[in-house]
Amino acid sequence: MIILVVNAGSSSLKYQLFDMDKELVLAKGLCDRIGLPGSLIKHKTFDKRSAEKEIEMKNHKDAIAALIRVLTHEEYGVIKSLDEISAVGHRVVHGGEKFFKSVILDDEVMKAIKECVELAPLHNPPNITGIEACQHIMGNVPQVAVFDTAFHQTMPQKAYIYALPYEYYQKYKVRKYGFHGTSHKYVSERAAALLGSPYDKLKIVTCHLGNGSSIAAVDCGKTVDTSMGFTPLDGLPMGTRCGTIDPAVVTFLMNKENMSPEQMDTIMNKKSGVLAISGVSSDFRDLDNAVAQGNERAALALEVFAYSVKKFIGAYACAMGGLDVIVFTAGIGENNPQMRKNICAGLEFLGVEIDDEKNAERGFEIDISTEKAKVRTLVIPTNEELAIAKETKKLVSC
Ligand code: ADP
Repeated sequence: MIILVVNAGSSSLKYQLFDMDKELVLAKGLCDRIGLPGSLIKHKTFDKRSAEKEIEMKNHKDAIAALIRVLTHEEYGVIKSLDEISAVGHRVVHGGEKFFKSVILDDEVMKAIKECVELAPLHNPPNITGIEACQHIMGNVPQVAVFDTAFHQTMPQKAYIYALPYEYYQKYKVRKYGFHGTSHKYVSERAAALLGSPYDKLKIVTCHLGNGSSIAAVDCGKTVDTSMGFTPLDGLPMGTRCGTIDPAVVTFLMNKENMSPEQMDTIMNKKSGVLAISGVSSDFRDLDNAVAQGNERAALALEVFAYSVKKFIGAYACAMGGLDVIVFTAGIGENNPQMRKNICAGLEFLGVEIDDEKNAERGFEIDISTEKAKVRTLVIPTNEELAIAKETKKLVSC
């Protein structure tokens, strides 16, 4: 079964084509600068053929048409015709309270996704545009929506209700949703498989640490709490996002600096995080380099990050009444041994202990704990696209 996975942003569209019988990526690529001058497609196949070409893509329909052309191209293609694609899986950021699992798209589902636009004004509209473009170009091929929020819909009320006037929850659905759900689900399931333990018996803290970072408490296969909130701004300090701060700081700074809500929003989303603390970069590799040259603010930014992750791990161990597994994933979680070490330092009282030699490995699934550690600490590369393809296969095969 061949499945196309689409992740549509406002001016870009990422795709991967899977042969799900072998769980093999046949081709992947990116349509970039959609609707802008100099739009281009970058494409790579499993057998290392690649193409990069400027093509006029005025909108997402043009992008889908372009990716179908390259997928079926004589020289760069991996399939003969569009008919070989059995289904399309779409990443959709926000499913609100309606969607607690992936669904096959129909008119009713589309309407519900559109109702969630208010909750994710930057993300859901391009996701919807991507779906509509596929429906237009690919006709009756089944399409599936896989939501970033869905996995966290198992949170109990005590974890997702904010202590704000209850009417705002009723009127505007202001509550914690959490994001990166596809990744938290994928790595927590892989953790259970890797350990050979039943998923529904484990207490797992999953740490998705990338440009955007979030942590989830996965108790017996269900999220019971997660660090991102109503939006992906909450929780950990990130590359450029502030994470949790005293909410009174927002109105204080708006008054002091005479800022509009939009300006304050930009400060918190784009000009904060480790970028702001360090004054150097949002990228942890740049921060490591700066620290090596004696930059104290870069060192402080890394300390703030590690401290925050450590506190969430502790809090979630308490929330679950125990801890069996910690999983590190995403750019930083997978590739930054020093950060993993700093996060785990001091967690010995919980039973966490990592082995420096194993911790130095990268690029594959590995248990980095010492043999005697009570808590297994794992590094598991995330694979959101494969997770979307699996969900899609499961739904269309029913
Ligand atoms: P996004 O949230 O944009 O998907 P990523 O998961 O790619 O982000 O994570 C980006 C972060 O991961 C950056 O801070 C970067 O320093 C770090 N990172 C990514 N790849 C590597 C690598 N090979 N070595 C060290 N750090 C890496």
